[in-house]
Amino acid sequence: MATAETQATRMAVPGAANPLDMALEQFDLAVAHMPRLDPGIVRRMRETQRELTVNFPVKMDDGSVHVFTGYRVHHSTIRGPSKGGLRYGPAVELDEIRALAMWMTWKCAVVNLPFGGAKGGVVVDPKTLSKRELEHLTRRYASEISVLMSPQGDIPAPDMGTDAQTMAWIMDTYSMHKGYSVPAVVTGKPIEIGGSYGRAEAPGRGVMFVAREALKRRGKSIEDVTVAVQGFGSVGRTVALLTQGKGASIVAVSDSRGGVYNPHGLDVEALIQHKQQTGSVVGFPGSEGMTNAELLGLAVDVLVPAAMENQITAFNADHIQAPLIVEAANGPTTPAADRILRDKGIELIPDILANTGGVTVSYFEWVQGLQHFFWTEREINVKQRDIMLAAYENVARLAAQHKLDMRTAAHVLAIQRVHDATNIRGVYP
Ligand code: NAD
Repeated sequence: MATAETQATRMAVPGAANPLDMALEQFDLAVAHMPRLDPGIVRRMRETQRELTVNFPVKMDDGSVHVFTGYRVHHSTIRGPSKGGLRYGPAVELDEIRALAMWMTWKCAVVNLPFGGAKGGVVVDPKTLSKRELEHLTRRYASEISVLMSPQGDIPAPDMGTDAQTMAWIMDTYSMHKGYSVPAVVTGKPIEIGGSYGRAEAPGRGVMFVAREALKRRGKSIEDVTVAVQGFGSVGRTVALLTQGKGASIVAVSDSRGGVYNPHGLDVEALIQHKQQTGSVVGFPGSEGMTNAELLGLAVDVLVPAAMENQITAFNADHIQAPLIVEAANGPTTPAADRILRDKGIELIPDILANTGGVTVSYFEWVQGLQHFFWTEREINVKQRDIMLAAYENVARLAAQHKLDMRTAAHVLAIQRVHDATNIRGVYP
């Protein structure tokens, strides 16, 4: 779960950019390579489709009433219902939610899922609330955004600060209003109420698939590489665990309190237990302490930012030594940093390709919820791998054909798909 520190670190990073400015600059860079797009559709894709701000009361444990602010933003519903996570954090902002909604549209299009993009959030530090307060906040927020949310219209999922329990409360609240169970209204639910096998690990598993493929194309095997992972939350720890399971050596990981390093490799399972017991990776026996800045500059084969936006900026990009960066987090690299990394010859597999594992298995969960027929974990993992590797191949081919970096190529692929769907549908009325 995200902490106050998680959110507070965002703007503390020198060179940090407004996430919406980042998303729009990435969009404009891709559109510059697409001369045949309809300018009216380009203007439409630069904007969000609809935005809801809700201010709602929650009765706290001491009997007082607090008013919280939440958002739900739809960037696009052109290719299908909008899909995107819910973020709880004290520094959640509308521009951040808008950017994340836009990135969701591109992500769903890159992996060719029949979804548009959305994102939501509540301005709250979930660590400061009791479980009862968190449940009441979640149920009231769900009720407030139910004007937008439905299995056919908009399907939330977990993100920073929210988890499977949050999704269970939302599913239950929506179902109570309807009078019958509606499992397909959210994804990332517990298995017991219609969640999918493989969903919890899916974002990290997808990063592993993509990293392995990128290494293969560089003539390297995942068994021979060293990896540093920034962020040891739901996504980062799964990336560390699964890449270690494939033979990689995880030499450094960090969380908001700091990092740990062992040049001979860290025992990720033991590290997960250490974090569960102490609240941080810091102080893990047999490791040296390390700052987040030091971790980002390590001479490893693969660097995986898995924390949050704005971690690799113009301020620190020049210090990066890893030849390959695989973005597990959304928006960890600013456009200015992208240019520096490109000039240094560093290959970067962008978020809108690398972290599509979560939404891909969310799609499977939604389909299973609609049809009330469930697949095995093996079926899920194989289907996820096939979809993500096909997307990788499509993006890599575009990048090679048009001499683009992978981020721009992924945007070109996604924007073209959304553009063409918009064009075919036409302008109503
Ligand atoms: P989380 O809250 O579970 O974990 C975030 C981790 O990052 C925590 O360990 C936190 O301590 C650490 N962290 C925060 N600031 C840091 C900093 N400055 N340096 C180092 N570590 C720091 O969140 P999560 O669900 O793992 O999400 C991580 C990223 O992955 C986010 O960008 C999120 O949008 C993205 N993502 C999540 C999913 C999902 O399904 N959960 C899917 C795709 C992408």
